[in-house]
Amino acid sequence: MQFVNLQAQYQAYKNEIDEAMQQVLDEGSFILGPAVRELEENLSLFTGAPYALSCASGTDALWLALTAWDIGPGDEVITTPFTFFATAEMIALTGATPVFCDVRESDLNLDVTKIEEKITPRTRAIMPVGLYGQPCEMDKIEKIAKKHGLVVIEDAAQSFGASYKQKRSCNLSELATTSFFPAKPLGCYGDGGAVFCQSEKLYKKMESLRNHGQIARYTHEYIGINGRMDSLQAAVLNVKLSHYEKEIEVRNAVAQGYNKGLAGLAGIQVPEVSKEVESVWAQYTVRCADREGLQQFLTEKGVPTAVHYPKPLHMQTPFLVCGTYRKGSLPVAEKAAGEVLSLPMCAWIKPSEQEEVIDLIRAFAK
Ligand SMILES: *Cc1c(COP(=O)(O)O)cnc(C)c1O
Repeated sequence: MQFVNLQAQYQAYKNEIDEAMQQVLDEGSFILGPAVRELEENLSLFTGAPYALSCASGTDALWLALTAWDIGPGDEVITTPFTFFATAEMIALTGATPVFCDVRESDLNLDVTKIEEKITPRTRAIMPVGLYGQPCEMDKIEKIAKKHGLVVIEDAAQSFGASYKQKRSCNLSELATTSFFPAKPLGCYGDGGAVFCQSEKLYKKMESLRNHGQIARYTHEYIGINGRMDSLQAAVLNVKLSHYEKEIEVRNAVAQGYNKGLAGLAGIQVPEVSKEVESVWAQYTVRCADREGLQQFLTEKGVPTAVHYPKPLHMQTPFLVCGTYRKGSLPVAEKAAGEVLSLPMCAWIKPSEQEEVIDLIRAFAK
């Protein structure tokens, strides 16, 4: 059994993917070729965001969005400590300071009732992360941001394709970013990412930042990066995106299967999804007080699992050394870090495999 079965997915779309990649090879347009433009149009149509720009990774996407908003030294960005490192890493890389706000118990997303107490005169942005594929309470976050003159930048690396109040993730804020890392809900065959925005001005700036700050060939307006997406990755994504809605449905059915199979087990807490959200289930993550025991038990039986994430970001060395945080600073995130366990999840898990995982967890819970 695999945690994410990428081979089965490739076999299902093999003809289309091979053909799309072959076309790039035949054209020889490896950088920012037609497949990339096509993908950007498709991403905008799919999310509803007026502007979509591809880039080399979800990490670059974060840097592009923050930099386009001129976030840098002296600024503060409020974000969650319970996310992948890149979220806070890119805030810090711009020279700004990530300010960690604790998460809420139900879905481990930003606790919006705790955001305002983190706002200072230096705060410039709020960066919510749609953890495990579920967007945050974006309306409430937007309201707080408006009141204090802040921008919202959604890190949708895990929630691309999800919706909140019938609107798609990546179109819920001024700026949004996503990742197409292979194991993400929509993944390519290498690194890839995208940024989304509501204004042409930001789009143009990010387009330039993505390509060494050029506004014309060898005319550099900004300090940028080489953050371009390969045409080969775009070709893969165009094919996979055309099947993605169907996959989201299947992922939800798989999640329902887990919910049903694991409901009411002593010591196992299944994930909660709020009513206004459709998740893409980047992870199906349960909570268990004896997480180590459960993980070891499943590993011995050949079931792959993962911990997202074992250490909240305020406890990681680069953020710990600033002295602002210590053990106990953000208790909900810290407790979750010791209890979460992600189970095999993708559109290609076989019913028999899922049954096996459920049976094993039921046996463990007894
Ligand atoms: C995966 C991920 C990223 C980084 O994306 P890459 O494409 O791997 O650079 C950033 N933020 C979150 C929340 C992620 O899950």
